[in-house]
Amino acid sequence: MAKIGINIATGSLQQDEIIVGIDLGTTNSLVAILHPDTKKPIALKEHNSSSLVPSVVHFDAFGNVTVGEAAKAFLIAEPQNTIFSAKRLMGKSYNDVKQNASFFSYKVIDDNTENLVKVQVGNKFYSPVDLSSFVLKELKQRAEHILKTPVNKAVITVPAYFNDAQRQATRDAGKLAGLDVLRIVNEPTAASLAYGLGLHKDEEKAIAVYDLGGGTFDISILKISNGIFEVLSTNGDTYLGGDDFDNAIVKYWLQQSGLNEDELKQNKEFAQAIRLKAEEAKIYLSSNEAFESQLNGDKLIITRKIFENLVQPLVDTTISCCTSALKDAGLLTKDIDVTVMVGGSTRMPIVKESISKFFGKPVNDTVNPDEVVALGAAIQADILAGNNKDVLLLDITPLSLGIETMGGLMDVLIPRNSKIPNKAARQYTTHKDGQSGMKISVYQGERDMVKDNRKLAEFNLTGIPGMPAGLPKVEVSFLINADGILVVKAKELRSGIEQSIQVKAQQDLSDEALEKMLLDSITHAKEDIATRALVEARTEGEQLLETTEKFIQKNATYLSKEEMMQTASAMQALQLAITMDDKDLIHTKAKELNDISRPYAERVMDHAISLAMKGKAV
Ligand code: AMP
Repeated sequence: MAKIGINIATGSLQQDEIIVGIDLGTTNSLVAILHPDTKKPIALKEHNSSSLVPSVVHFDAFGNVTVGEAAKAFLIAEPQNTIFSAKRLMGKSYNDVKQNASFFSYKVIDDNTENLVKVQVGNKFYSPVDLSSFVLKELKQRAEHILKTPVNKAVITVPAYFNDAQRQATRDAGKLAGLDVLRIVNEPTAASLAYGLGLHKDEEKAIAVYDLGGGTFDISILKISNGIFEVLSTNGDTYLGGDDFDNAIVKYWLQQSGLNEDELKQNKEFAQAIRLKAEEAKIYLSSNEAFESQLNGDKLIITRKIFENLVQPLVDTTISCCTSALKDAGLLTKDIDVTVMVGGSTRMPIVKESISKFFGKPVNDTVNPDEVVALGAAIQADILAGNNKDVLLLDITPLSLGIETMGGLMDVLIPRNSKIPNKAARQYTTHKDGQSGMKISVYQGERDMVKDNRKLAEFNLTGIPGMPAGLPKVEVSFLINADGILVVKAKELRSGIEQSIQVKAQQDLSDEALEKMLLDSITHAKEDIATRALVEARTEGEQLLETTEKFIQKNATYLSKEEMMQTASAMQALQLAITMDDKDLIHTKAKELNDISRPYAERVMDHAISLAMKGKAV
């Protein structure tokens, strides 16, 4: 199988085009390349500034977007218009993030569903993919400015535990930013590469990658053999990071000055200002014994000793995650050959010391922990470019493979440039009550609508036993063998019925046709993603209309006349919005309908519960 790269400007195939490595982080992001002369990875930065770009996006009243340090400055003054930590929302539904909803000071739409989450700023709705694409676009532009050459190809890193949907969302964000994402690489793998691990074929090692960033903690146990990285286990806490160390200081200062935490809730500006001071103190204490400063005329003081006492429980939490990860990997601390430190928070002496003690050997911390992942991504990019002949390059799929889902959308199961052999599976369900069959249409290509891709095959899974919509679990799996033969299987998991088909993945596709498909996907990226967002909004809107309709039919007696009328008119408005080409309007109307139905839906629920409590059947 071929590895194809395209120069967007000319549309021609190019071998020597630069491929950047991007660490798209929760708190900060950055770009790295392999220096053409020294062959060493370097993080790109403007003269005299940091390589780190805060992953923060600010929207002004006119819809102008700023990213990075300039956007971060708005965190205090305009929390509703300033989006941070969008990575936490990637590939998630509101139900996935609702326990942590208070974490976000901007508006995450509460639609109480499994649909992908959206953020509202003013009267616009943004998906996490949109938000991440703004960060990536900024990184691309910076890299172009520094390198004085177009940058169109990238390797982007993601946490090892990211699932399919989150990896796909990251790819989509890259595409939307005008980047051809050649590979999604696990962050711990990239960090290991940056330490030169895994670059020799006969190397066999067990590696622990300890990554404590601004808001998240991950521990990954990896094995390398035959030049292949395998993730043996991951563990961590997606809501534990440098921010918690800052909060420990904030709490301490509040206690010292006799304030309580409610004060922070009431005054968001003060809360942000004291948090920034606390971060400054924490960083200062990594190389000094005591910190002293002022805020609004009040003195703020803390010593390293007090700080370390405060945060010991946080460090201990990370260590219990390490214990669990080792257990899952079936290894003991002594089996770990190398421990790699990643993330700005590993600069804290208490962290380095505790982890060295736990693993029984000094940790590897010589590479800048903020840059190490991006540097590794740059090394991976260089390997993909074919410049590093020592490393085995596996065969890859030249185009993405997927199936058609609701509204004619392409749902990718095996992304382009995945190594083969490969397998992937995803679960789907029916959307009609009693539906007995499901058509599986297999497509190849990079466009968001299947009509723009190539159909490879189609078959019907029949004989699904009658069940209400949403109950059957149909697992569609793709298996590509080493010859590029794709086997697609669909299986209803509750009943066990299954059907499969064999396809030759790139049936007589010429290089020119392949090139055209790739080029089309990039030139149409923006409209494709807009169409996808519109189709998804319509599907969600239609589902909402259907469930509201069903609910009302069942519970009409509990609703007042006024509620009935309001609901009917909100449903009509949503119906109308669905016929138009404006996803934000659909979301607005869906939200209005949700806002109207929420109070009575809750009332009906409460009523059902109180009946049940009285021992009556509902
Ligand atoms: P990352 O997400 O990897 O960029 O890590 C950012 C986190 O590292 C933030 O919480 C920073 O406050 C923290 N950090 C950066 N430098 C230091 C330092 N010298 N000491 C302690 N924490 C640091």
